[in-house]
Amino acid sequence: SNQLMAGKRGLIMGLANDKSIAWGVAKALSEAGAELAFSYQGDALKKRVDPLAAQLGSDIVLPCDVGTEASIDALFDGLKQRWDSLDFVVHAIGFSDKNELRGRYVDTSRANFTMSMDISVYSFTAVMQRAEKMMAPGSAAVTLTYYGAEKVMPHYNVMGVAKAALEASVKYLAEDLGKDGIRVNAISAGPIKTLAASGIGDFRYIMKWNEYNSPLRRNVTIEDVGKSALYLLSDLSSGTTGENLHVDAGYHVVGMKAVDAPDM
Ligand code: NAD
Repeated sequence: SNQLMAGKRGLIMGLANDKSIAWGVAKALSEAGAELAFSYQGDALKKRVDPLAAQLGSDIVLPCDVGTEASIDALFDGLKQRWDSLDFVVHAIGFSDKNELRGRYVDTSRANFTMSMDISVYSFTAVMQRAEKMMAPGSAAVTLTYYGAEKVMPHYNVMGVAKAALEASVKYLAEDLGKDGIRVNAISAGPIKTLAASGIGDFRYIMKWNEYNSPLRRNVTIEDVGKSALYLLSDLSSGTTGENLHVDAGYHVVGMKAVDAPDM
């Protein structure tokens, strides 16, 4: 295995179980020699995250609900008790009421719009406010987004609007933090069967459509995303910031249904 991340320390946010994109990313970084800390949302997830962290040699597992400033502050206070510096952050967090991940976007409620933007968009900015203070030049951050930000995808609704805002925030963060040598990028992942994805209407259909119509004629895995995150968080991407790297088997370049795709 490579040692691209030897001597680097990073925070992984958004690990729920071994299907999580955060798990694919954590594995790739750990394999490359990184030392990891994890945050989890709520007590119910602690019993899942503890053993996964241990599997990668980490005992830094801290609670954080990104919905409050106090909880994010507590996370960074806890982190500072263990580490005096931070080399990277992985933000793999998103949330919307699943009742609004079906039907029409126009019917989105104000309450869920506000909550989805708060948890899925502002949280990354709030985390970077704290992380920046622990980061030296050469540090980097990655968040996770989806093509539903760029084009209308079935059922993605308010999450598409939130991801568009997240992608814009990546560009503004890249400018602000770039002066200190900190890079900020996004990965736009193709559909992957995770806990969060199971809330999206007709998700199996969306997976099949991507498999049949993407240039690589397959879906991506959390390992595919992990390797690209390793690139964006390591010195291999030292000249890249504010970028949205599509890890989607090429789906985003396709203009129409493939001729060889079966009828669905
Ligand atoms: P997942 O369910 O494994 O992870 C989502 C994580 O968000 C969970 O760990 C959950 O605890 C966390 N979270 C939600 N609300 C939170 C809060 N208030 N405070 C702290 N944490 C909170 O699913 P995933 O698919 O791995 O999702 C990770 C990221 O990848 C999300 O941003 C998602 O939108 C994005 N993404 C997923 C796909 C896909 O098809 N699965 C595709 C593109 C992008």
